[in-house]
Amino acid sequence: MDINYDKEFEKIKRGTDKSRPPKLLLHVCCAPCATACLTRLIDAFDVTLYYANDNITDTEEWAKRLQEVKKLASLVNNGEFEIQPLVPLKTVVQPQRSERFFAAAKGLEKEREGGTRCTKCFELRLDDAKKYAEQNNFDYFATTLTVSPYKNSRLLNEIGLSLQTATLQWLPTDFKKQGGYNESIRLCKKYGIYRQHYCGCAYSFYERTELQSVPH
Ligand code: SF4
Repeated sequence: MDINYDKEFEKIKRGTDKSRPPKLLLHVCCAPCATACLTRLIDAFDVTLYYANDNITDTEEWAKRLQEVKKLASLVNNGEFEIQPLVPLKTVVQPQRSERFFAAAKGLEKEREGGTRCTKCFELRLDDAKKYAEQNNFDYFATTLTVSPYKNSRLLNEIGLSLQTATLQWLPTDFKKQGGYNESIRLCKKYGIYRQHYCGCAYSFYERTELQSVPH
């Protein structure tokens, strides 16, 4: 039976104590995806943005996306975003270690986006987030990746659930539900946030170029 992860999320959100919001480590793939996710999170969770994306193999692009994440965090913390946070956002940045991504993707270079290489890529990033969250006493960890129509939410949730421990829970989400992706486009326009034209790795860049650039 298919699980409705969006409903699961809503159930958990309804049960949160707004006077003591749970600590959530939110893996952020990029600012565009984070925009719509934050509208559903910051009124119930104490959110830390976790930028750990070894898959963004071009250093300039990695830095540009990070800059946009910081810009979004500032907008939220300065009260300029359309939803006010219960607690100011924190941001944690891991260095770009693309060699880890290339090692995980070895032998899968020719896969199309959505194939096994992406599964390895999700596992790498969610495992990083889980480790950081565990070491720093978070209650939940989650990812913005479920907002993208290019990303398999069921797979992301299955990986996340397989990583949770007795003290750290995976926060199930399917942010592409309830018009999440269109909402991210609207918010990017409103706040002038850069939207990239490919997923992140060099392979996806060449795939998009070949397919004539569909914005993510
Ligand atoms: S296409 Fe995106 S999700 Fe897939 S391996 Fe490349 S960066 Fe990771």
